[in-house]
Amino acid sequence: MDDYVTYAKPDRIAAGVDQLAAMTEPDRPYTRLVFSPEFDAGRRWLEDQFKAAGLVCNIDAGGSLIGIRAGNGAEPRRKLIIGSHIDTVPAGGRFDGIAGVLAALEIVYYLNEHDITLPFDLEIVDFLGEELNVWGTSCLGSRHMAGLVTAEMLGRTDQDGRCLGVEIARIGGSGKPSDGVRGDADQILGCFELHIEQAKTLQERSVDIGLVTEIPSIYRYGITVTGQAGHSGTTLMDGRRDAAVAAADIITAVSDLAGRIAAEDNHHFVATIGKIDIFPNGAAIVPGRAEMTLDLRSASDRSRLRFEAALDKLIKQTSMKRNCKISRDKLAGAAVAPMDRKLISILAEQSARLGLGTMPISSGAGHDTAHLSRFAPAAMIFIPCQDGLSHCPEEFTSADSIARGAAVLVRSVLALAEQSVPKGLI
Ligand SMILES: [Zn+2]
Repeated sequence: MDDYVTYAKPDRIAAGVDQLAAMTEPDRPYTRLVFSPEFDAGRRWLEDQFKAAGLVCNIDAGGSLIGIRAGNGAEPRRKLIIGSHIDTVPAGGRFDGIAGVLAALEIVYYLNEHDITLPFDLEIVDFLGEELNVWGTSCLGSRHMAGLVTAEMLGRTDQDGRCLGVEIARIGGSGKPSDGVRGDADQILGCFELHIEQAKTLQERSVDIGLVTEIPSIYRYGITVTGQAGHSGTTLMDGRRDAAVAAADIITAVSDLAGRIAAEDNHHFVATIGKIDIFPNGAAIVPGRAEMTLDLRSASDRSRLRFEAALDKLIKQTSMKRNCKISRDKLAGAAVAPMDRKLISILAEQSARLGLGTMPISSGAGHDTAHLSRFAPAAMIFIPCQDGLSHCPEEFTSADSIARGAAVLVRSVLALAEQSVPKGLI
């Protein structure tokens, strides 16, 4: 049986992690926000690595850094996309996204060391700005490839007056809206991404590789409760229309409801009310209005529809009980992104050949691959993430875990190459 270190080098991966980790806001490790000086430094470093590995670099219209290793198949040549992201959240970790980019580079090193030319072009990608940013959007690079970046998004400015479109143009993108999905979408053979799990299922079950089955839908709803503001001393309890109390009822009920649906439907299903504003927000005033944002992620559309129906019912009940008007508006919604079965089976088979344990797993978080899956076959693997901690400085996975995942990718790339040409040619 092949050993993973035949295909990927843990020491080299660890060195890459350390070098990128040094490109952080010094007093807030690990912070490399998209378009920041630290991000620019990370991009320069990565481009140097790409070039040293012989990749031909370009920045696409959406601002993603792409390193191409040309294949030798007939034109128009097919393409395989492998990548992740090097930006972080504020005070984030050293591995979220970075692991996937370094693993993708390991594929190039292996091919170089073994003098292998693939029948298709290999594109190694640092997708621009995957994390949620101050402009209220995320997955800038992959979203652009999927044709989903709009003029409205690009026109947004942050509190320092920085315009999103201008920033994308500054780092080499077009700063213009997407002109549909990538023009060469029908040439794309597949897309792979390695990512840390950001949860602890793999660690708890001692499994090396999670084969992602789907990336959940992400829906956000605004819930507004309107009651009646009043004097906290003179408004008697039985006459109150306290918007915060009604909001509290809804927060508790949403949590209970989501827990029930998650248990009964046995899918990844989470609901969070993580943002609430109370008006007028004074210590001596009965709250007159509450505005909340509900974030819902579900691996199953059926579960989401079930939740929505139950939510409307509980809104009605709470409205009557607390004598407040309550409305629900959909702010954003992205459908479930199923991963490509054929690519998953290749990843599963190659993991087995390396003696690695696998399990199917539903992603909790959104990823660039969700956008890629809208226009090309796409699949992801997860590697264990210590104690499930992510988006924090304690985030950790070992260089060996990354190397195991990288080895699966190397072998899967070779398997795809074998399938593309008659045996014996590579
Ligand atoms: Zn990520």
